[in-house]
Amino acid sequence: MDKKSEILIDHKKLQKRVDELGEQISKDYEGKNLLVISLLKGSFIFTADLVRSISIPVRIEFMTTSIYGESEVDSGNLKINEELDLPFEEYDILVVDDITDTALTMTGVLKYLSEKNPKSLKTCVLLDKPSRRKTEYVADYIGFEVPNVFIVGYGLNYGFHYRNEKNIIHFLD
Ligand code: 5GP
Ligand code: MG
Repeated sequence: MDKKSEILIDHKKLQKRVDELGEQISKDYEGKNLLVISLLKGSFIFTADLVRSISIPVRIEFMTTSIYGESEVDSGNLKINEELDLPFEEYDILVVDDITDTALTMTGVLKYLSEKNPKSLKTCVLLDKPSRRKTEYVADYIGFEVPNVFIVGYGLNYGFHYRNEKNIIHFLD
């Protein structure tokens, strides 16, 4: 790595916490019809590890979203890039994302999915950056709380690169 960086959460600690989340989710969703919806691209590595720590049957689907404009109030301007065509009402949905920052993405996705009348709807985020919230929102499952710095690695990008960095890092300048 040529840029100066600091490790915030190393790979071993990530793996341990992700395993714990998977075990908890397996207990909580025992006997339910679990559908994980992973928000691309940032959550692809977290999702890959999390679902392998889940020991009950799980359907896995992916969604890509983007925010256009700056909404201070709600997430009316969240764009779902590809509609999922699923019998949502048959499933207990768990939305999985990499990080919650302003929470505009998650709030918008929850609004979209709740209108599909799933059996239940919860969220799991690896990282929570509560200092920058624009809407009141707390995920049901949270891996770690992080400070208000730009996080990179374990799926999170810096420009087009660094998603493959094993640790959660941040650049020092
Ligand atoms: P939101 O502000 O809507 O909660 O977050 C939207 C998305 O922005 C996150 O899912 C994530 O993909 C991206 N994001 C937010 N904070 C960071 C960060 O610190 N680093 C990186 N790489 N992406 C972030
Ligand atoms: Mg994301």
